Formats: sequence, C-alpha cells, structure tokens
Amino acid sequence: MAGEGQSGDARRTVAIVGAGLAGTSAALGFTDAGFDVTLYSDRDRESLRDKVPPTGVGVLFGKPREWDAEIIDDLYEVGNTTGISVRLHSGSGADRADVLEFNPDYGYVAQAVDLRLRADDRLGRFLDKGGRFEVTSVDTDRIDAIAGSHDLTLVATGKGGLSALFPVNESRTHYREPQRRLLQVTLTGLDHGPDTFAYRSSAGGDHSLFNLDSENGEIFVGPFLHKDAGATWSFIVFAKTDGAWAAKVDEVEDAASARQTILDIFTEYFPHDAPAIEKLQVIEADPVSWLKGAVTPTVRHAVATTRGGHTVAAIGDTAIAVDPVAGQGAANTLIQVAELVKAAKTHDGEFSTDWLEAEFEKHWQRRGWAAVEVTRLYLGDPDYATHLELSFPAAAVDTNVASALFGLLSDPNPLLTLGNRDDVLGFITAVSGEPADDVLGRFEPAGRFSSATESATAVS
Ligand SMILES: Cc1cc2nc3c(=O)[nH]c(=O)nc-3n(C[C@H](O)[C@H](O)[C@H](O)COP(=O)(O)OP(=O)(O)OC[C@H]3O[C@@H](n4cnc5c(N)ncnc54)[C@H](O)[C@@H]3O)c2cc1C
Repeated sequence: MAGEGQSGDARRTVAIVGAGLAGTSAALGFTDAGFDVTLYSDRDRESLRDKVPPTGVGVLFGKPREWDAEIIDDLYEVGNTTGISVRLHSGSGADRADVLEFNPDYGYVAQAVDLRLRADDRLGRFLDKGGRFEVTSVDTDRIDAIAGSHDLTLVATGKGGLSALFPVNESRTHYREPQRRLLQVTLTGLDHGPDTFAYRSSAGGDHSLFNLDSENGEIFVGPFLHKDAGATWSFIVFAKTDGAWAAKVDEVEDAASARQTILDIFTEYFPHDAPAIEKLQVIEADPVSWLKGAVTPTVRHAVATTRGGHTVAAIGDTAIAVDPVAGQGAANTLIQVAELVKAAKTHDGEFSTDWLEAEFEKHWQRRGWAAVEVTRLYLGDPDYATHLELSFPAAAVDTNVASALFGLLSDPNPLLTLGNRDDVLGFITAVSGEPADDVLGRFEPAGRFSSATESATAVS
C-alpha cells in the first residue's frame, strides 16, 4: 500500500483522527507497538493544552489505570484519592431532610488528572518517538483519502466531529436526550489531605465528596491535578433536566459565574459544606478551566465505511458516549485503546471490517456494556430503582456494601449479574457477610449531617 502516511518502511500504517485522550493514547500505543502512525488534529499542540477546556474531569477509578499503564507510565502523584464521602438529601423547605451518608474506602486508588495534561504528555512522547502530527480539520472527503492510504484508520473525534459516520446502535442506546445538564469547573485555594473537609470524615480531603439531592441532581467534588495550578479541586454539577439546578447551570458563562453558581447551590442545598466551598477561587491563569453542556448517552456501530468504501473504526467517545455521573468515559476509552493495540500487534492479516467489528464486540463484552449499565444505575434509571432503594440504605450501615457500590466504578461487570431484587439482596448478603434483611433492618435516617466550620478547612 502506498500514499499518504507512508514513510517507505515496511511498518504497517495507522491514521488516527482527533488528539484528545483517545487519539493521543492510540497514537502512543500503536507507535510503541511498532506501527507507523500519523495523528490528525484540528488543533495544534498549544491549542489542545491551553486554549480549550478539558473534555471532562477524567477520574480513573481503580482498574482502568492498569490498562492506562500499558500505554504510558504513571506520571502523576497529585489527584489520587482512596475513597468518597457520600451524602443524600431529599425534599425542600421545612421537609428538607439529611437522609443518609456513608464514607467508604474504595479499596483502590482513583486518579484525577487534567485530561489536557494527560493528552499532552502522550502527544509529547509520541512526537519524541518520531510520530507524525498533522494539524488539519478532517472532513468526510479527507477521511476517505486517509483511510484509503493507511492499513488502519481510527476516528477519535469525540462526541461530535466525525461521529456521524457511525450509525447509532439503537438496541444499545437507552436515551434519546441528555439525562443531566453538566457544569464542570476547577477551583483553587484549599489543600488536599485530611485537614480539608475534615468535618465529613477523618479522611477529609483524601476522599472525594459526592452530594445527592433527590430532586435536583448530584455534585461531585474531588482533589484534582490541574495542568498548571497543580493541586486543585474539580467540581461537576449533574443537574436533573427537570430540577431547579438546570436553569442555573445554563446561565453560567465563565469560570467566575461557574464558581458562583456552585456556591449558590451549596448555600441553598448543602449548607453544611458551604463555608468550605466558599474558600475556593477560580484559576485566573486558566480562563477555560470550566465547561457546561450535556451528553446524550449514545452507543454507535463502531465500524463504518467511507464514501469510497474504506473501513474506519471509532474509538473513545466517538464509539461510546456516556453521561459522566459514574466516571466511565475516559476509563472505557483507555481500555478500548489498550486492548486494540495488543490485538493489532499480534494480528497478521488485513484490518478488515469483520476483524474490527469482532474487536469492538470484545470491548463491548469486556467493559462497554457494563460501563453503560453502571451509568444508568448512577443516573437513577427506573430499571435500577430496586438496586438503589436497597443498596444505598445498606451502604449507610455497612461499609463493605458502600465499598462494593463504588467498586462498580472500577469494575462495573458485577452489576450485569444483578437482574432482580433477589440478586441485589444476595449481593448485599455476600459483601456484608450477614443476611441482607438484618443489614437493612439497622438502617435509620441520618438526622443531621456534621457541618464545616472556619477551623475545619485548611487554606493553601
Ligand atoms: C463533565 C464531564 C466529566 C467527566 N468525568 C469523567 C470521569 O470522571 N471519568 C471518566 O472516565 N470519564 C469522564 N468523562 C468522560 C471523558 O472526559 C471522555 O470520555 C474522554 O475525555 C473522551 O475522549 P476522546 O478523546 O474520545 O474525545 P475528545 O476529548 O472530545 O477529543 C476529540 C478530539 O478530536 C478533535 N476533533 C474533532 N473533530 C475533528 C476533526 N474533524 N478533525 C480533526 N480533529 C477533530 C477535537 O478537537 C478533540 O481534540 C467526563 C466527561 C464530562 C463531559
């Protein structure tokens, strides 16, 4: 095969379009596996790192980090957490109630690193190893030419870009519209470590916070490694589309209004935390440290044919896009890429449609399907009402159940075995070591949560 992307050597050629986490991971992984790689990006390196917000927070909960380690060494010591402090509230006004809380150790490490830094580190290593990086916006004509002149062409243009090349897989796609309005921002001003948020638990800021409001949505707050500012705090508001937070999220227009909106929500809905949250400030040096929007959870047929009849395959969000509430998107991306690199390295034949479809099917069975389902669980999908009704009270009285619930972020596959009420009760019995009815019988509503005070938070 000759043409664009060929360098005259005998190595098999790979074209990758899009230089987010998926594209840069694939570029580095395929280069290390001995392929001749060209990475196409609509933005240059500086723009990718400094002119756009990170696509998401990209916390890697536990096991996905093992696949990531197949692509690149672990370069980051900041942003690692070992557990999560969860609080559930319900009602409004006089009926407002602190329903339950739990604070498990995950039993694994979760790592929250700015996706722009992760991608830039991969891109830098790819370039150091002689990889070709072409800055161009690839359209449907160009993808046809690229696919015609490479042995393997991967599309990693995220949820938009060239994703329309890949038809939606209707049977695997559960929603036709977003389930949450999303607001993400990174703020600075509080140390990581046990002194910050110490009123929530002895782990304090070694754990992330997850506040749920039964009517309006959820807020995640976690220690984060910002690409320039270092140890910071990342926030995600998951606003239910019919709740009171959604309109507030839609009105955000910059980092300062993102911070103010989050502070307003904490003051009204989570006043226990508001004195601590108030100490956090925007990162002046990074005006694009925030993002708002929404994801329509979508699974696509990940192999398609270009106009000229050439095969292309989707990776990352282009193949499977999930709402971020269960932190599965970046994880799913890295697992897909690491496994595809290994499979391609040992595959002798053509990268045909059949071969690529079979590889995507393996990915779906290995992780994709479970990632979609655990996201539906955390979204509170009616199909999982029984799971939530039983597992949250059980988690509040048994820390093993709480750990197992968050163990599903690391490996969501056990969820696929929990089809009905008896399965969930069996799961609670198995992880708690006592009959589920006894566990649930001990549950009592929280009463009143502990609060932040001026002295309970450490300002950096
Ligand atoms: C608020 C939020 C929080 C999240 N939190 C988590 C989390 O905690 N854990 C987790 O695992 N996941 C999380 N995610 C998901 C995660 O961020 C994504 O799954 C991941 O970043 C997707 O990477 P990607 O490379 O597929 O796409 P992208 O990052 O979107 O990259 C696509 C790239 O392609 C480029 N491009 C587009 N069109 C073209 C074109 N025509 N030609 C050339 N280049 C093009 C774009 O400019 C971009 O650089 C979160 C997502 C959101 C929105």
